[in-house]
Amino acid sequence: MAEHLTEQIVFNKPKIELHVHLDGAIRVETILDVAERRGITLPACTVKEMTHICVVHQPATLTEFLGKFAEYMHIIAGDREAIKRIAYEFVEDKAKEGVIYVEVRYSPHFLANTDVEPIPWNQKEGDLSPDEVVRLVNQGLAEGEKASPRRNSRD
Ligand SMILES: [Zn+2]
Repeated sequence: MAEHLTEQIVFNKPKIELHVHLDGAIRVETILDVAERRGITLPACTVKEMTHICVVHQPATLTEFLGKFAEYMHIIAGDREAIKRIAYEFVEDKAKEGVIYVEVRYSPHFLANTDVEPIPWNQKEGDLSPDEVVRLVNQGLAEGEKASPRRNSRD
């Protein structure tokens, strides 16, 4: 109980995060949802199973860690709606966690399917360039910010 209370106090504080990877903070529900919409088969069909596949369970090398991106990046990459959505939901999630300032990073090239060499995640060439990915992410972040309740540092 005391432990739970301490945890609650810590997590109720306003926070800042200076280095968060957008493509490492995607909701698993969204991955499943977008895969279904796009007709892409995943190795799992529940949030629990897909989470198990995406999570690093043992201390691992950076290469093993980054290898997890291959489990789901092909679902989001090349899809305008999905890219905007993950940026929007990122802000929504951070706001819920009490984060009042966050620096988010990502590689536009990893989400594009044209003007990039090689085209990542075995995608077919499409018409989504890294420049447009940046615009979509910025739109999603801005809309998420508008929709999320503001907190000030005294909350
Ligand atoms: Zn990093």
